[in-house]
This record gives sequence, C-alpha cells and structure tokens, in this order.
Amino acid sequence: MILLKNFRELKEWRSKASGSVGFVPTMGALHAGHQALLQRAKQSSQQCILSIFVNPKQFGPQEDFNHYPRTLEADIDIATQEGVNALFLPSPEEMYPGGYSTYVSEREFTQGLCGSFRPGHFEGVTTIVLKLFNLVNPSSAFFGLKDIQQYFVLSKMVLDLNLDIELIGVPTVREKDGLALSSRNRYLSSKERTLAPRLYQHLIACKKNPSLIPAASRELTLLGFDVQYFEKRSFDLGEKGTFHILAIAAYLGQTRLIDNISLDSPIF
Ligand code: AMP
Repeated sequence: MILLKNFRELKEWRSKASGSVGFVPTMGALHAGHQALLQRAKQSSQQCILSIFVNPKQFGPQEDFNHYPRTLEADIDIATQEGVNALFLPSPEEMYPGGYSTYVSEREFTQGLCGSFRPGHFEGVTTIVLKLFNLVNPSSAFFGLKDIQQYFVLSKMVLDLNLDIELIGVPTVREKDGLALSSRNRYLSSKERTLAPRLYQHLIACKKNPSLIPAASRELTLLGFDVQYFEKRSFDLGEKGTFHILAIAAYLGQTRLIDNISLDSPIF
C-alpha cells in the first residue's frame, strides 16, 4: 500500500492507476463498517483507494472535532490487511488553504433529520466529498447506509451535478447485539453501551408497526436517551426510485448515535 500525503503524490499515483478505481472516503478510526466498504470496493474495482481526513468543515462549533479519535497506525494496519492499494492522507492546509471560500450545498435532502440538528454539517460533507472526487477521479465510491441521509444527499449531488461516478451504498455493519458500528461508540460508558442497542431494537419493532414510534421515543427518553428525531422519511431519486426509511438520532450521555432501517427492503 502506498501512502499519498499530498495532492502531487495523489496525482502521480492516479495517472498511473490502470483500470477501474474504487474510492472509500473516511475520517479514520477504522472499524468493521469501514472494512465492509473496502471489501466491496476491492471486489468491484481494479484499484482501491482509501482516504482518511477528519474534515473540520462538517463539525459544528460545539461538536467533537478536537476529540474525534485519530488512530492512524491501527488504520494503516487495517488498510494493509484489506489489500488497499493507496491511502490518501491530505492535510487540512492543502484542503482548505487560507482564503478558501467555495462550498457545495444540496437544498432538499439536507432538510430535516440530522440537517435540523447539525447546521452546516451536510454542506461540509458535500464540499469535501466533491473536492475528494475531483482529486481522486474514481470510477465508483462506497458509502455506508448507516449514514443514510448522507448517502442520499451525496447521491443527489452526483445526480444534480452530472458526476460520472457510481455511488454504492453498503449495508450497516452491526455488533452482535445490533448496535451499528461507529467510531464514536468508543465514547460510550459500559452502562451506556448496554443501553445503546435499544435504538435498533425499536427500529425493528417500529418497522413492523410504525404507530409504535411515539411510545418507542418515550421509552428511550425514560431510559436516558435524548432523542432528537425518530421518524419516517422518503427520498426521491427520480429514475432510481423513491426510498422510504425509518431514522433515529439520540444522544446517550455525550455520545450522539444515529441509526436507520429501510422500509422497502426486508434485509436492512
Ligand atoms: P466516517 O469515517 O464515520 O466518516 O465513515 C466513513 C464511511 O464509513 C461512511 O460512508 C460511513 O457511512 C461508513 N460507515 C460508518 N459506520 C458504518 C457501519 N457501521 N456500517 C457500514 N458503513 C459504515
């Protein structure tokens, strides 16, 4: 695996990479969820490139940017194990030099859900992902369905801006007890960790019977969750179809957890 620490090294690698290039953008602190994306990228592409960049522009002023886990050595081991061909590690200075002033914003799918509670978050995401797409020039890019609103916002950006990149959504990887893997799970205390799977249990129950949503929210609140939203939502991607989901976000102590379940697919 080659480490690419700046745009020049990336350009040189990209100019020599032959065949299809599968791209997995992340913020590092890699876990089995990220590994599933890398495995999908390896399966369907001749070259697999991973990026790790903790993007300051997608964190609000009160959020955990400074404390976000940074575990580069372990990440390099995981990426090597997964057979990643190139690891792109851009610096914040090169990504956002002084005077940086251009942003990408999607105006429809970013409304509601996390968009209501994390102002500016999705603009930070679409901006960095478009920049990474322009730099890496991948054939396809792989995103987790755990971050379902992000997946649809990015799919809409690809559609609206006529990007010639195939976006592939990878099902959420979970712990045995159902908790969706997340780099932020390490913030949970042991008591919180035992409560956290309740989110997914309620999603499953409410998928069967959506009239249970208000009671499920109340029960989570009684358990100590600070529920931000628990609701049904649809995303219309034109010819690709309309997708219906049930999504939840809740704080448990200091940790913000999100999860969702598809109302269309029996699988996830
Ligand atoms: P992050 O490093 O948290 O920005 O995530 C990078 C990518 O990994 C995003 O596309 C996430 O949706 C995806 N991801 C994070 N957790 C999971 C998970 N449990 N299962 C599948 N994909 C995930």
